[in-house]
Amino acid sequence: MHGLNQDLPLLLSTVLEHGATTFGAVKVIGRYGNDCIDFDYAQLALRARRLAAALQHLGFGSDHMVGSLAWNTHRHLELLYAATGIGAVLHTANPRLPPAQIAYAINFAGYHTLFIDADTLALAEQLAPQLQTVRRYVMMAPPGAVPHSTLPELLFHEDLLADGDPGFTWPLLDERAACLLCFTSGTTGAPKGALYSHHGTVLNALSAGGGNAWALSADDAIIAIPGFFHCNGWAVPFFGPMYGASLVLPGRRADSAFLHRLILDHGVTVAPGVPTIFLDLLRHCRETGAGLGRLNRLFSGGAAPPLAMMEAYLRDHSVRTIHGWGMTETTSAATMSFALRDLPPDQALTAMRTQGKPVFGAEIRIADDDGNPLPRDGVTPGHLQARGHWTAAGYFRRPEIEAMTPDGWLRTGDVAKIDADNTLHIVDRSKDVIKSGGEWISSQALEEAASAHPAVREAAVIAMPHWRWQERPLLIVVVTAPVTRQDLLVHLAHMVPKWWLPDAVAFVDELPHGPTGKIAKQELRQWQTDGRLGLDP
Ligand code: AMP
Repeated sequence: MHGLNQDLPLLLSTVLEHGATTFGAVKVIGRYGNDCIDFDYAQLALRARRLAAALQHLGFGSDHMVGSLAWNTHRHLELLYAATGIGAVLHTANPRLPPAQIAYAINFAGYHTLFIDADTLALAEQLAPQLQTVRRYVMMAPPGAVPHSTLPELLFHEDLLADGDPGFTWPLLDERAACLLCFTSGTTGAPKGALYSHHGTVLNALSAGGGNAWALSADDAIIAIPGFFHCNGWAVPFFGPMYGASLVLPGRRADSAFLHRLILDHGVTVAPGVPTIFLDLLRHCRETGAGLGRLNRLFSGGAAPPLAMMEAYLRDHSVRTIHGWGMTETTSAATMSFALRDLPPDQALTAMRTQGKPVFGAEIRIADDDGNPLPRDGVTPGHLQARGHWTAAGYFRRPEIEAMTPDGWLRTGDVAKIDADNTLHIVDRSKDVIKSGGEWISSQALEEAASAHPAVREAAVIAMPHWRWQERPLLIVVVTAPVTRQDLLVHLAHMVPKWWLPDAVAFVDELPHGPTGKIAKQELRQWQTDGRLGLDP
């Protein structure tokens, strides 16, 4: 017997329309350098409908694909809703990837039309000869700003929009239809595509925005720092209209002075990002003596945030860190740490250090090398596996990749421990963990301990080969004040087991960062192989 509920599909267009009708006057701000676009969800929906009508007129519909190579702007947001709302799949290509990987992903997806913006035009021109299927480009630029371009067929977003029917209504699609495609950053091998459905994307935003997670409401203003190309911008494009939170779109710039200005100017309350962004923002506040206005929580993901950083935000700015774990394959965050509001700071920090608990709709477990289940005892590390309503069931057009266990869980490639109450502790990426004499040393825990030294701005730990122990840790640091290797080892000796202490320390001016802002360990390994690290053993 079926229930007697109305059978309405979960669609991204319904998220947008909820924003337009319920929070129509809530602001959507686009700040691109000195330009400021100030509009609201009612206008966003109107423009998205017109663009959707124009896309249909061009022949797009269910099962078609279209691409974007663009930063987080209001036009990109309109495209995201317009393309997915008519049943097409939008591939958000990451402009920060090496050009060969961008071309690979676009050719692999094989579509004809690529949306770009003024800040990706030069990159698109450079890529164009390698793009085997793209025949038409659409420039998402302000009306009248028509840059000279060598691209073959160049249309303009604003022209399409002007011609689009404002009376357009969204089709009722199958909620299991694909809507968005993001590729992993491909640090090892070719990038792999995660193809998200409407159903999974809506449920993910609904669950991740809830009380024990991002805890969003119409009191919030979110700054959309993660690119739409990284895990759908961590669901931020959907959070806004779903929860009535204002959105601030920063375009290409992600430097701390600019982000700080936006946080103050637009009353931002929630900032998502990778720890590197927050470290820079904290430094900016220290150097300028500035506060953070209405900002009251960070959403830190992508890598483990240093404890000292979370401590400083809480102490100096009363800003809490919600710390989440997720991956491209889990759509956005799957687990989140939540520190109850009235916990004393030390207990709050203990909770924030963990990767938190699964939100409803995500499940986690750990297994040994042979796939046997391991206990949730908080001490046994194992290979982390994930399952849930929005977790990938495989990779886009890559059935040969054995991503899944025989009983349908995703192999995440992370090593983790899980407490009895289902709190997740990521130990390391399995390829980053240091295997010393048959035991594991967590590069992540060493990085966190090194980052707690007041002179250390950023730290990375990689394995170096060892004749006896197979691998030993190498610590690479960026420092802001004179400090010796011995100082760092004495500091670490208080925080980690003695046999974890790095065998060598390298001091560098900057650490390399990958296309999503995380430390690029692959590049560091190359620096080590090439002898580019002045080792201080
Ligand atoms: P990506 O697909 O680029 O988002 O990368 C996903 C990977 O980032 C995960 O498999 C983890 O290795 C790492 N990661 C994400 N969130 C965290 C976190 N909170 N702590 C530690 N590592 C994380």
